[in-house]
Amino acid sequence: RKAGTKTGEARVIAIANQKGGVGKTTTAVNLGAGLAELGYRVLVVDLDPQGNATTGLGIDGRSYELSMYDVLMREAPLEDCIEPTSVRNLFVAPATIDLAGAEIELVPIFSRELRLRRALHPILGDFDYILIDCPPSLGLITVNGLAAAKEVLVPIQCEYYALEGLGQLLRNVHLVQANLNSELEVSTIVLTMYDARTKLAEQVAEEVRQHFGDKVCRHVIPRTVRISEAPSFGQPITVFDPTSRGAIAYRELAREVSGGAA
Ligand code: ADP
Ligand code: MG
Repeated sequence: RKAGTKTGEARVIAIANQKGGVGKTTTAVNLGAGLAELGYRVLVVDLDPQGNATTGLGIDGRSYELSMYDVLMREAPLEDCIEPTSVRNLFVAPATIDLAGAEIELVPIFSRELRLRRALHPILGDFDYILIDCPPSLGLITVNGLAAAKEVLVPIQCEYYALEGLGQLLRNVHLVQANLNSELEVSTIVLTMYDARTKLAEQVAEEVRQHFGDKVCRHVIPRTVRISEAPSFGQPITVFDPTSRGAIAYRELAREVSGGAA
């Protein structure tokens, strides 16, 4: 896995899986917080009209003027829509429900797949990590996320049908790679909601590791109630409950992703 930056250009990582509820947003928020804790400057770009990464980072829809809708549809500078969070070094480019319209409004637009890529370009030097929280679909918004990234991080929930639909995601990644962004690669698989008490979680993890080899992070994210409670307090788990198992797991993941110590 590639080493972290702290200088130079941001590592742009799209967090994608067209299945909903697999831990994309939770990973964007908490991996982001973990990396920020390590001293990296991190931007979470919320591309989901549900805006869960935005609210999960404590940003209220009424407190800002510009969102990712304005960036994608009105060519507002991304820089102008970035909000600081309560975590030092951690920033968010917020999304609101109007982004749902962009999925259709983008269709007739010139260079519709490259809107985010172009918007990110001027700020690549300002961050070490840019984590793009993609919506649960493979539509134009997700294509914008993939076209703008160098890496794809795929969260996989340790449940039945974990691998279902992954072929489709990988085909889309290859299409974007062939047509829009030759640098793109699936770099990282994160096993989420791991329940060590069940045989099933172990079996799914084993299957995913056979399939994806060393792209799969050694550190798995446990299923814990505290992780699911944190968003309603507008805090990453690392702030909400800093010594919890979930906080420790996301810190370890941040260290692993940034190429740091074991
Ligand atoms: P996605 O963005 O892929 O739709 P989310 O990150 O929103 O998925 O997670 C879906 C739901 O599962 C949310 O309610 C979230 O709080 C919960 N969740 C995510 N990860 C965990 C975990 N490790 N343990 C417990 N609940 C989790
Ligand atoms: Mg989400």
